[in-house]
Amino acid sequence: MLIVFTDLDGTLLDHHDYGFEPALPALEALRRRQVPLVLTTSKTLAEVRLINAALDNTQAVIVENGGAIALPATLAGQLAGGQPDTLAGFEAVDDHRVLRNSPAYAAIRAFIAQQRTTHGYRLTGFGDMTAADIAHHTGLSTDQAVLAAQRLCSEPFLWHDSEARLQRFREAAADAGLGMTRGGRFWHLMGDTSKARAMHQLREWIDHGRGRSVTVALGDSDNDREMLEQADIAVCVRRHDGTMLDCEGQQRTLRTGQPGPTGWNSAVLEILRDFRPPDR
Ligand SMILES: [Mg+2]
Repeated sequence: MLIVFTDLDGTLLDHHDYGFEPALPALEALRRRQVPLVLTTSKTLAEVRLINAALDNTQAVIVENGGAIALPATLAGQLAGGQPDTLAGFEAVDDHRVLRNSPAYAAIRAFIAQQRTTHGYRLTGFGDMTAADIAHHTGLSTDQAVLAAQRLCSEPFLWHDSEARLQRFREAAADAGLGMTRGGRFWHLMGDTSKARAMHQLREWIDHGRGRSVTVALGDSDNDREMLEQADIAVCVRRHDGTMLDCEGQQRTLRTGQPGPTGWNSAVLEILRDFRPPDR
């Protein structure tokens, strides 16, 4: 059995128009073969549930760069053999059951507030911005910005202070069990977690009581690297500017000729064509 973990922007979704139409043949083939498709992204649950709905996909999602795993309520009861204690530690968020791998958003905001009070650091997080501000800085529409602001466990922020003080802020974050990564203009403050770690967790839940699945991971950016390197089959999806991640999967690596969903489509069809389930 296969499980597919995929990044969204620039991978399954087109860099320019966020469409996935070129990937429809492969999406349909995954559905026919009942291969789980797990969206694995820096986006929030509020953003991703709409994308899953558009894809007609009912699988779990990995959001905020691995900070949380969210299961649709209908799926939650079936995971790990449906044992009652499986969902210990999960919390209900709308129609999903969520497990955080990171301190909660309120705790991250409290850390920022405490650092500001003590050291006067100048930074602006999503929690300090209106939806219009977020839209202005990210290029999202205001409606999308409202969804991007509904955070579970990570805070994007702009740093307006010196490099030396950024280093001190980063050290204080590490002491508090928080990590920082950079994506474009924004820094992200979050728990010590990753897409790769969430991929392993979710595979174990899906595989509970049967053979180990082969993991396929598709991505285009540095925050996908660890996930691709730890997947059995890695797909490096070409970026719109023609460049590509340079990394290898555990067993096999595909590098797409075409960018975004067009490359995604041909790679997934090739993997499905070649895949033979191991003999039981
Ligand atoms: Mg991407």
